Amino acid sequence: MTYAARKIRLIMELRTQGITDTRVLAAVERLPREAFVAEPFLDQAYENRALPIDCGQTISQPLVVGFMTQALDVGPRMKVLEIGTGSGYQAAILARLCRRVYTIERHRDLLTRAERRFADLGLTNITAIVGDGHKGWPEQAPFDRILVTAAARQVPQGLVDQLAEGGVMVVPVEAAGGGHQEVVRLTRRDGAVHRESLMDVRFVPLVAGLPG
Ligand code: SAH
Repeated sequence: MTYAARKIRLIMELRTQGITDTRVLAAVERLPREAFVAEPFLDQAYENRALPIDCGQTISQPLVVGFMTQALDVGPRMKVLEIGTGSGYQAAILARLCRRVYTIERHRDLLTRAERRFADLGLTNITAIVGDGHKGWPEQAPFDRILVTAAARQVPQGLVDQLAEGGVMVVPVEAAGGGHQEVVRLTRRDGAVHRESLMDVRFVPLVAGLPG
């Protein structure tokens, strides 16, 4: 089967599993996931599963990317912060939907490769840095949207502080009692922060500090 045929099958699967936002589906359709996947896994680029990338990390499952992006409700004029660049796939999806993406990754190797992919694909509205995402990006704050793509022990307050009024943050958090994680959506309205639990997921952990 060609990549194009596999991609159509994946889009149909995402639709039946609840991804109904046509902007999100169009972004998935236009972006070549094979450009973000490691060589040995190219034949699985359009399978609906997470795949290993370098530094012991993973490119997220397409359904999870679709779900979190849909939950984030990104608009074309927005400034979005992503924590956990990884392969760069999620940042590239966001870049199709908003004005500018800021993304932070703690592994320099991953970041360098992701930046090369952005350049190859002509995605010029992504700015990426190496850092500990817990701290966010104070110089660029506030953000209309914040998406964390690694599992936090608890919602990082430093990031909540960088959310604009009316802003939305989506973050996978370890559930009470441990064992599983849930995607949490936080909305800042009139100074208060409203919290919802959306779905159970499995992410690599959000790790404090930079690799030694
Ligand atoms: N969004 C990625 C998938 C991310 S996997 C993609 O589309 O491919 C989670 C990523 O978060 C990993 O690359 C990991 O190195 C990174 N990460 C973990 N803790 C971090 C932290 N504190 N700051 C920045 N990045 C972090």
